[in-house]
Amino acid sequence: MAPLTHIAVMGSGYVGLVTGTCFARLGHTVACVDIDGEKVRRLTRGDLPIYEPGLELLVREGLDAGRLSFTTEAAEAVPQSEFVFMAVQTPSASNGEADLDALLAAVRTITPMLADDAIMVQKSTVPIGTAGLVEGVLASGNGSSHRVVANPEFLREGTAIRDFLNPDRVVLGSSTHAAAVRVAQLYDFADCPVLITDASTAEMIKYASNSFLAAKISFINEIAGICEAFGLDVRRVVDGMGHDPRIGSQFLGPGLGWGGSCFPKDVKALIHMAKAADVSPRILQAVQRVNADQPRLAVRKLQESLGELEGTVVGLLGLSFKPGTDDLRHAPSLQLIEVLTEQRVSLRAYDPVAMDRARSLAPEVTFCDDPYTAAEGADALVLVTEWPQFLELDMLAIKQRMRRPVIVDGRNFLDGVALQSLGFTYRAFGLPSTPVEGPTDLAALAALEGMD
Ligand code: NAD
Repeated sequence: MAPLTHIAVMGSGYVGLVTGTCFARLGHTVACVDIDGEKVRRLTRGDLPIYEPGLELLVREGLDAGRLSFTTEAAEAVPQSEFVFMAVQTPSASNGEADLDALLAAVRTITPMLADDAIMVQKSTVPIGTAGLVEGVLASGNGSSHRVVANPEFLREGTAIRDFLNPDRVVLGSSTHAAAVRVAQLYDFADCPVLITDASTAEMIKYASNSFLAAKISFINEIAGICEAFGLDVRRVVDGMGHDPRIGSQFLGPGLGWGGSCFPKDVKALIHMAKAADVSPRILQAVQRVNADQPRLAVRKLQESLGELEGTVVGLLGLSFKPGTDDLRHAPSLQLIEVLTEQRVSLRAYDPVAMDRARSLAPEVTFCDDPYTAAEGADALVLVTEWPQFLELDMLAIKQRMRRPVIVDGRNFLDGVALQSLGFTYRAFGLPSTPVEGPTDLAALAALEGMD
């Protein structure tokens, strides 16, 4: 068991809030710092500004136990902390490069306050070489040689607490082995490999991991297009591929493509880094191009079913970039909304948690209280986010509300055969135009029937 200690976390967004709250849950005393006063006021009351399953309960538990606090004043958190985690945003600059302004501002804020032996732990996703850069800023600010440990975060929104508390691996990169070992002690709760590398390797591991996952999705989207051209069912192809442990079946879901706060900016940033180093990132660029086309493919499927789109009404089921989160950063829904609005389509939408955020981003959309209202008068529905509750819908009631019973399933999520038997025109990604049953797992069937 690691000795309990004082931790400061700079940035109380999706990553910082989960990091701080989970360390408090593990018994440490954690002060979370954010420059957003309203966010801090809400968090201090136990009122979460983001949706992340299970997080509100843990935040309240931490507040009640006196182990978790929120402040806008770094001076109230940093001087007494042995570890200062950086979890501020690193968005894309216009050239694709990661914008380090927020990070460097936070580093300058903490520099004069750091305790002598404090370690700065870098959770934000940052370009190769940033740990060294930050060590330089710290040294020029206070003359000391504070260590930076790159500790990329791999949590997924929607399952962030589970991912943080049960990581697949912990990566710690530093120019000083002893600093990485001290941070490793914080993770002794985790039953997984702890990899100690140099800082730049740790930074690269994060970009390579996210880019690989994005590539898997773009790859299967390309395969889905080829399957469609040959009248094949991509689900059966994925089933046949996924049993190979070298391939695996995760992240092989065709549809509207990847989005969110990480993949788009991280693929862009890696492309930028490669080009700056005179390396041609051919695969990464193709991964990006395939993804950019996916929402347009959904629009083409609408056109094939409805004809001219101008003047039609389309209902969107789901808006967040994936289920389990209200995050709309680079969500495919926003691109879809943009393209459909250009074509003068009236849009109605429902999402279980993302509508408050969506209102300001897409004022042209009519937001509805439930999926049935979103279907009212619609010529077609597009399933955008695979929220599990959409599997429970009374599709006959949905159909009765629609002007034309057309569904474009942007995540290959719904039961196309059942929908077609109800009279829907069902279109998905990489499926034959006449839906067939999903893949049959013969091993599962055999088990069900008591066969060997
Ligand atoms: P976010 O935008 O949700 O949160 C960042 C927070 O930092 C904001 O609340 C902002 O007000 C605060 N902030 C900005 N400047 C500050 C300063 N000087 N002092 C204190 N607070 C400051 O971002 P996020 O999604 O939590 O991502 C943070 C980092 O983690 C990014 O680099 C991201 O790439 C990486 N990451 C994110 C995820 C994810 O799923 N969201 C997963 C892994 C890694």
